[in-house]
Amino acid sequence: MTALPPDPASTAAKTWTREGEKRDAWAAVRRGLFCRCPRCGEGKLFRAFLKTADTCSECGLDFTPQRADDLPAYLVIVVVGHIVVPLALLIEKEFSPPLAVQWAIYLPMTLLMALWLIQPIKGGVVGLQWAFRMHGFDENFVDDHVV
Ligand SMILES: [Zn+2]
Repeated sequence: MTALPPDPASTAAKTWTREGEKRDAWAAVRRGLFCRCPRCGEGKLFRAFLKTADTCSECGLDFTPQRADDLPAYLVIVVVGHIVVPLALLIEKEFSPPLAVQWAIYLPMTLLMALWLIQPIKGGVVGLQWAFRMHGFDENFVDDHVV
């Protein structure tokens, strides 16, 4: 059995040029939201729950320049808050259940929604940073903090 030569079409799709590389922000954010590499959409973005991989396993993109910091947490608070608070107000206005019942619903719901959303939102933020060439995702980036 002989090995087949590499398919030029499949390798061309994974070949990335750093100079003049087009970066579609929407595609990068969408790929990040699915926890995939913002450049190729195939490699896994995370190696742990909120820990990004060092590089993409498919295209080799270096993920270490990402600086999502607290933005994913702020975005999760905004999204979850805009769902839970109106729902709580609506339920209080319409049904007025006992306070213990409300706590038993809203606290786990808020926690589960936050845990469910934080990883994809972080992925989207990393995708956005890559698409906008922020931090070390810019090929012309010069780290002036290194002396
Ligand atoms: Zn990739």
